[in-house]
Amino acid sequence: MSRLVMKFGGTSVASVERIKNVVRHVNREVAAGHEVAVVVSAMSGKTNELVAWCKEASPLHDMREYDAVVASGEQVTAGLLALALQQAGLPARSWQGWQAPVLTDDGHGAARILSIEPAGILEGFSRGEVAVVAGFQGVHRPTNRITTLGRGGSDTSAVALAAAVKADRCDIYTDVDGVYTTDPRIVPRARRMDKVAFEEMLEMASAGAKVLQVRSVEVALKHDMPTYVRSSFDDPDHPGSGTLICKEEDIVEAQVVTGIAFSRDEAQITLRRVADKPGVAASVFMPLAEAGINVDMIVQTISQDNMTDMTFTVGAADYDRARALLEKTRSDIGYAAIVGARDVAKVSAIGVGMRSHAGVAARAFQALSQKGINIRAITTSEIKFSVLIDAAYTELAVRTLHTLYGLDKED
Ligand code: ASP
Ligand code: MG
Repeated sequence: MSRLVMKFGGTSVASVERIKNVVRHVNREVAAGHEVAVVVSAMSGKTNELVAWCKEASPLHDMREYDAVVASGEQVTAGLLALALQQAGLPARSWQGWQAPVLTDDGHGAARILSIEPAGILEGFSRGEVAVVAGFQGVHRPTNRITTLGRGGSDTSAVALAAAVKADRCDIYTDVDGVYTTDPRIVPRARRMDKVAFEEMLEMASAGAKVLQVRSVEVALKHDMPTYVRSSFDDPDHPGSGTLICKEEDIVEAQVVTGIAFSRDEAQITLRRVADKPGVAASVFMPLAEAGINVDMIVQTISQDNMTDMTFTVGAADYDRARALLEKTRSDIGYAAIVGARDVAKVSAIGVGMRSHAGVAARAFQALSQKGINIRAITTSEIKFSVLIDAAYTELAVRTLHTLYGLDKED
């Protein structure tokens, strides 16, 4: 007998009717002889509403109470799905994060899963019971407080549960039928990938592809958990295919570039005329790090008379805080001026084939320049390169790279 974890996102459980549709997917897998645990998100829009209520009640809220509030969305759908399964004659029970239990650290609002103790769920399996587990939430045992895993966290709940119960696969049901070479709303010729390597998916999610929470891919990679992204809108009796996230070795037809990702949630900061001497970079980036502000791309120009310009990017949401901090530490750093830009975007190309092919990024720089797109900053890793450009050119840049690397679907 094999074991499956099935996860259903917000649009897949958006109403009781949609929840009944989930029952049909679960029923199919149970009938095929699988032991099944289902992880659910809150109904779509619910978490946003709960977050807004917290802000309304207290702008600088206590994150422990925020977690108590926002975890409730998943509590509702877990109970409802268990009811709907029972109604269809399938034995089922709901498990809240604290009941499973999903043990986390105390990073309220973005807690990390430490372990899941699945004994109770496994006992349920042996009685023929479907386990319905509330995603997104856990418990911090030492303080006995409810925690949540950050937005999109039920993906991570699902993959971590799959690892804990030693499932054969984790199926992530969503409102799209898989992972695309890029966002099909921007490039109609984007293709659904049959398979993508864990490392590629990790880079794509970090670079802005929104299908899966980044952490869920980290967990899948760590535990080697095959994760299948598929649509809950398929006919439950005849589901179509999705995208399997798996080991690189399991992909036969590897391409140099597999996907193009982009993010408009970036902001650029440039410090003009910084002294070119040891310790300066630390004086810029240490305070940012201490404030929990993530810095992504960093570019330093060649120094003239021992002064350089330092450009870097932060998340758009951190921009104001970062600027304020840099203005406060101005005398320690010693720069002539600070300039910022919010209307920037990061476009990235990802593919494990970059490890073994030279000149992959160079071709992109040429293609972008031929379209008149100016590159503000560049970063590269083993299997990815990213360019920072004016946000107005995002779509053109994504399309250009998608075509350049032969990713366009044929007619
Ligand atoms: N309901 C939570 C959110 O909207 C978790 C999830 O859906 O993955 O972020
Ligand atoms: Mg999601």
